[in-house]
Amino acid sequence: MSSSPAALALAGHWIGGRGVSGRGGRRLAIEDPARGVAVREVELGDAALVDEAVATAAAAAAAWGERPLAARTRVLRAWHGLIEGRREELVAVMGEEQGKVRADAEGELMRGLETLEVACAAGLLLKGEISPQVATGVDAFSMRMPLGVCAAITPFNFPFMAPLYLSSIALACGNAFLLKPSERVPSASLILAELAAEAGLPDGVLNVVQGDREVVDALLDHRGIAAVSFIGSTPVARHVHARGSAAGKRVQAFGGAKNHMVVMPDADLAFTADAAVSAAFGSSGQRCMAISVVVAVGDVGDALVAAIAARMEQVKVGPATDPEAEMGPLISAAARERVGAAVEAAAAAGARVVVDGREYEGEGYFVAPTLVDAVTPDLDVYAEEVFGPVLSVVRVATLEEALALIDDNPYGNGAAIFTRDGGSARRFQRSASAGMIGVNVPIPIPNAIYSFGGWKDSRFGDQHMAGTEGFRFFTKQKVVTSRWPEAATSPTSLAFPTR
Ligand code: NAD
Repeated sequence: MSSSPAALALAGHWIGGRGVSGRGGRRLAIEDPARGVAVREVELGDAALVDEAVATAAAAAAAWGERPLAARTRVLRAWHGLIEGRREELVAVMGEEQGKVRADAEGELMRGLETLEVACAAGLLLKGEISPQVATGVDAFSMRMPLGVCAAITPFNFPFMAPLYLSSIALACGNAFLLKPSERVPSASLILAELAAEAGLPDGVLNVVQGDREVVDALLDHRGIAAVSFIGSTPVARHVHARGSAAGKRVQAFGGAKNHMVVMPDADLAFTADAAVSAAFGSSGQRCMAISVVVAVGDVGDALVAAIAARMEQVKVGPATDPEAEMGPLISAAARERVGAAVEAAAAAGARVVVDGREYEGEGYFVAPTLVDAVTPDLDVYAEEVFGPVLSVVRVATLEEALALIDDNPYGNGAAIFTRDGGSARRFQRSASAGMIGVNVPIPIPNAIYSFGGWKDSRFGDQHMAGTEGFRFFTKQKVVTSRWPEAATSPTSLAFPTR
């Protein structure tokens, strides 16, 4: 690293409607992964800071939860407008801290804002049910109540979208919120919190505590937090779910992925190859919905591999500061090493490295698009989540074999089929064991009006995130049974009430 840490700006916390820093916590250097150079530092919080943030949030929660729906929604709409006004800064910060290229960062902004738009429909999505006359003169109705103080722990690969996905719905539901972004991308969450305050969100309703596992464990154990939503890798998701649940919290924990793209012999080859390249190498493969395995069915393999390899040559790799760049670096030197080692081991075990991106020239943590053919399920490059720009090709004889492969895989985030046959597509969408299915769509991230989430080791706990299930996760149900007797005609009875 060439910069002197003493000269670097500090990303601190946001508690009670203002920036908080200088609490003497540990500090971590944030690198621009395209250059391997530190650009700022982040102050890591501890259990005492979590206590302070939870107390602040708890003090603000009840009044926010009592705000009329329309008033809460007005704040969220103003927040949306202010975020739009700071687009350029958010794109720049995602580029600087995560290496995300412009087009990708703009896409992330748009998808995040779409969820905020759904949050603005809280009036519709929080509607309860009513059953008049469930017994003589008795009506029953349900309502969804806020939980109180909720928290989110988010990963490095969506510095803006993941924090907004979770916070916008939780706030719309009337909760106070505590956000713990990835320590590698601290700034987008601070901008979001500052803009929420500007939009009129009362102090203390949205707080940001920076940190690593020390803060995560303090959040999981804290008795003042009712629910935790986590997005990150599977081992940490498992830990978060177990520890948070043991502490009596509602927990949903979204983990890693291994997303298969099944290509049938009748698929349109050019269209399919384009889709595979976009889905495998967008964001350098650092997406939980990235395609990391193409499953070539029947005799499509050779032609498909050739078409994908030809398109890979056209992918422009470069830093986020290059407006033409389509693919940026990996997040860290460690990630580059991990990806390189997975390709090396696959080659040593007999897989064929068709396009090798490991020798990419230049500073920073780049690996160029890499294609590995003749991969078998026993290889680490298949079995592990590589989380980099490496596309494996596995060859099978039939759709049944492809479905069995997906079924045997421990992950179940997304799966896609490319075909021109409606019967194969329908069979696949019914049978593939993943939470999000694409038919001729390689990255089937649901539109924001649906919820997002995988199956198996890609999600622990209940309810998918955002959309309608997000509203369920961040509220609890209350059912009211009421009677307004016109006169005191109700006789005393100790029998179990039936009508
Ligand atoms: P990560 O699991 O390393 O970190 C995620 C969060 O957990 C961060 O805030 C981090 O500070 C915290 N953390 C890390 N190690 C911890 C530990 N030992 N104990 C407690 N907390 C800990 O994940 P990442 O590298 O930031 O993100 C990439 C991963 O996230 C990939 O596996 C990717 O598939 C996954 N992801 C999943 C989804 C989804 O919706 N399923 C979405 C985006 C990313």
